[in-house]
Amino acid sequence: MAPAKRPAPSPLEQRIAQMIEACGPISVDAFMAQALYDPDMGYYTRVQPLGAQGDFTTSPEISQMFGELIGLWVAQSWLDLGSPAPFKLIELGPGRGTLLADMLRVFAKVPGLLAAVHLHLVETNPVLRQLQKQAVGTQLAQWHDRLEDVPHGPGIVIGNEFLDCLPIRQYVRTEQGWHDKLVGLDGNKRLSFGLSPVLTNPPDVARPDDPIGAVREMAPGLQAVVEALADRLKAHPGRALLIDYGDVSGRPGDSLQAVLAHQKVHPLDHIGRADLTAHVDFAALTALARHAGVGVLGPVTQRDFLIGLGIIARRDALIRANPHCESDMTLSVERLIGEAHMGGLFHVVALESSLNAADGPPIGL
Ligand code: SAH
Repeated sequence: MAPAKRPAPSPLEQRIAQMIEACGPISVDAFMAQALYDPDMGYYTRVQPLGAQGDFTTSPEISQMFGELIGLWVAQSWLDLGSPAPFKLIELGPGRGTLLADMLRVFAKVPGLLAAVHLHLVETNPVLRQLQKQAVGTQLAQWHDRLEDVPHGPGIVIGNEFLDCLPIRQYVRTEQGWHDKLVGLDGNKRLSFGLSPVLTNPPDVARPDDPIGAVREMAPGLQAVVEALADRLKAHPGRALLIDYGDVSGRPGDSLQAVLAHQKVHPLDHIGRADLTAHVDFAALTALARHAGVGVLGPVTQRDFLIGLGIIARRDALIRANPHCESDMTLSVERLIGEAHMGGLFHVVALESSLNAADGPPIGL
């Protein structure tokens, strides 16, 4: 079969190509940072990515049950922390605000919680900020560009499919040694992947038994996020809940993925138009968190986490109340907890402050 024809270069591809022509190939993380966060043309500064009309669908967009159960987790954590008031609920990358809106419905049933909570939304995308304002209103909420900008205080941080947006660097092993994977130009001045000269030292993420052809990845921004979370958790009681797709096996592999209108596409073909993500390295995440001095619970699969929070009983109650929705609800829950779906591919980690009053672990973990 003839290879699919590449689409014409986007304006952002043209800009990146000019830069590479002038200054030489760039690493994969530098490429991702430009493709996602270029101030005028980056995917996460310009596009509304979510839902049927967008490029991908996240757990809160699949079913209200997801946000309700996370709301339960937050409410129980607030009680575990000794019901601090005021109390910050911080969401990293809140998408269309669906998760927060579903959580707020649960909070209304917990005496004192709605009166105590202040919402802090960390969001780069102005299009999504507008949708978040519509979903949660502006009375209880404030917006920030970075987690570091949110004032300290007792609180809980939630991030669903946030860490997978962090640019990754990729390394490749050949007969000669380890190389940086680079983005350069082919003969037609289109972007193409290549390799750096052999690195003097293997990267920290390399393992001695990695075979020829192995790809290892690291997200340079992960450390800053974990340290910002740890700074908060060491200063005040709190927890952070991070949910993402990613591996806990430690096996090497190339996880860079581009998605456009719910279809996988080549990562260099629709720059600024397609979402680019990578698997979260949960081993690296938990090691960084322990090193930063906070408690770590998990990782567990999204399946075990949601079952632990009672998703089966919630589904059955919703079906009893709305029997005509049975097949929809059964299907949604299967997408959320099925081993071959998000249930097995997604993992959940909680970080917690040693200042917390509770002596037991958070629910679900
Ligand atoms: N949590 C939502 C959306 C996930 S998509 C859900 O589950 O539906 C990723 C989200 O993170 C989007 O809102 C995106 O605009 C935001 N985002 C991506 N990179 C970011 C960054 N570096 N800082 C803040 N927000 C970011």
